[in-house]
Amino acid sequence: MSPDPQLPAHDDPAHELDALANAARAHLRRRRAFGDRSVRLPAPERPSAARPATTSPAPTRPEPAPPRPESPAVRPLAPPPPPPTLRTPPAAVPRPVAPPPPPLAQPNVAPAPSPASEVAARAAACKDLASLRAAVAECRACGLCSTRTQTVFSDGPDRARLLFVGEAPGEQEDLQGVPFVGPAGPLLTDIIEKGIGIPRSQVAIANVLKCRPPGNRDPSQEEKRACAPWLARQIELLGPEVIVPLGRHAANHLLGVEGPDLRSMGSLRGQVLESRFGKLVPTYHPSYLLRTPDAKKDCWKDIQVAMGLLGLEPPKKRG
Ligand code: SF4
Repeated sequence: MSPDPQLPAHDDPAHELDALANAARAHLRRRRAFGDRSVRLPAPERPSAARPATTSPAPTRPEPAPPRPESPAVRPLAPPPPPPTLRTPPAAVPRPVAPPPPPLAQPNVAPAPSPASEVAARAAACKDLASLRAAVAECRACGLCSTRTQTVFSDGPDRARLLFVGEAPGEQEDLQGVPFVGPAGPLLTDIIEKGIGIPRSQVAIANVLKCRPPGNRDPSQEEKRACAPWLARQIELLGPEVIVPLGRHAANHLLGVEGPDLRSMGSLRGQVLESRFGKLVPTYHPSYLLRTPDAKKDCWKDIQVAMGLLGLEPPKKRG
């Protein structure tokens, strides 16, 4: 170690120790004067006389006058610096904060069209019954498309004053593609030709559904809703003056009644009902009449109401 150039050189080790001790005391007094209360001042310096006579008094370095401590009220003392460490850790580099991702662009997606709205758009685009029939044949708007043999559109002319509407095709209708050609067909033909007295070919016949429900089960509400626009457009193009719904389901459908509000046949028949499709004269379905022959007289009364709307005379008054 090189000697401190500020300390006087000593040949005597005792004097050198005294000088170092004095310097240490002076240092501690200065720290105490600067307000470091943790410093405990050592005992006063031993007089040189206590030392052996052989040792000459060590010249001490003149102590610098301690600086006057400043009033804490005037300037607060700075806190002591932290103790040095062997290795200063590198300053933490702040990690760059990634900016928040931009909000996902909301695609302007239109809600998926419902089967009924799809069917309505396609039906509205049909300008005549031929194009409507072709569009129905391609329809896959409900599950019945997967079980049908073919669609059953209508029977009769392109314009008709009288329209009969049943519920849905049965087995024979599904096979032949014509409504009311099964067991109930001949009875409907008798009502038209023997009752009203006109050829079946002069009236229009259709169903609410254009495809057969498997096993002749009742159509579901979803199936009826999906298929409804086809019939609505069909009625528009046919332009009937009177519609005879055959059975409770067809009558409620044309009246726009569904679910638990379905009306009974007893409350529907025997009268003229107004609907968005025009005048309705509901009567029993021919299948019901086959099972309940006593209801035929009520059906005949209903048919006479429809004939009266069309200005047709009952058969007994014909000449
Ligand atoms: S029942 Fe009607 S909606 Fe369903 S597939 Fe047949 S035509 Fe289309």
